[in-house]
Amino acid sequence: MANAEIGVIGGSGFYSFLEDVTEVTVETPYGAPSDSLFLGELAGRTVAFLPRHGRDHKLPPHRINYRANLWALRSVGVRQVLGPCAVGGLRPEYGPGTLLVPDQVVDRTKARAQTFFDGHPLPDGTVPNVVHTTFADPYCPVGRSAALKAARGRDWEPVDGGTMVVIEGPRFSTRAESQWHAAMGWSVVGMTGHPEAVLARELGLCYTSMSLVTDLDAGAETGEGVSHTEVLRVFGENVGRLREVLFDVVGALPETSARDCLCTHAHDGWDLGIELP
Ligand SMILES: [Zn+2]
Repeated sequence: MANAEIGVIGGSGFYSFLEDVTEVTVETPYGAPSDSLFLGELAGRTVAFLPRHGRDHKLPPHRINYRANLWALRSVGVRQVLGPCAVGGLRPEYGPGTLLVPDQVVDRTKARAQTFFDGHPLPDGTVPNVVHTTFADPYCPVGRSAALKAARGRDWEPVDGGTMVVIEGPRFSTRAESQWHAAMGWSVVGMTGHPEAVLARELGLCYTSMSLVTDLDAGAETGEGVSHTEVLRVFGENVGRLREVLFDVVGALPETSARDCLCTHAHDGWDLGIELP
């Protein structure tokens, strides 16, 4: 079985040009992930890329099998995950092209499987115990500082910290919802950041979100609201430099054996009842 130490969950723009990519199909106790894993070497590291929405972008945010995605990554050896994603800005100063590395998340999704510890037996007969995972700081502090440093190294001053609110989608927010999110002091709004981060934490993985603002959300702008065309245009304009920053982060992450961040201690004292892959 092919192996990788770092996982990147994002679009095909992040790996399609790499040479010597190995496609690996992984099955998990939770079903199939969004797509095959694409393993390659980058900055001297082994990386597994996973297209979050599938290679043809056919999976809407609420139908992504987040559990299978994280389980599949861990099963090929991944212990640190980077999650680039497109978000809407909730403040006028976070306009299109802003790169924000959040340090908090708020869950406003409605119907997503968001834990591995749900009492359902795995195919091998083992049953996960009741586990309450520490999640006060949802993102890896080591990964966050690597991401911030990498962006600055590419002359792209990032927003250091902020709260991502994750909505169920697939529709965009109403103006009232968006104004409420902004009034709560939250920074950006997305549709995939949850449960990706918490499932990574439940598997003891480091997870770092890198959020690219593609539009001002309905409450922060005065036009006709978010349009998908505009989101795609801004993402296309920025995908190149986001890829450069991502690759620099990959090279800067610690070796798997050197990890000692809070992510690795999330289950200290717990008996999980199951064997993580
Ligand atoms: Zn970590």
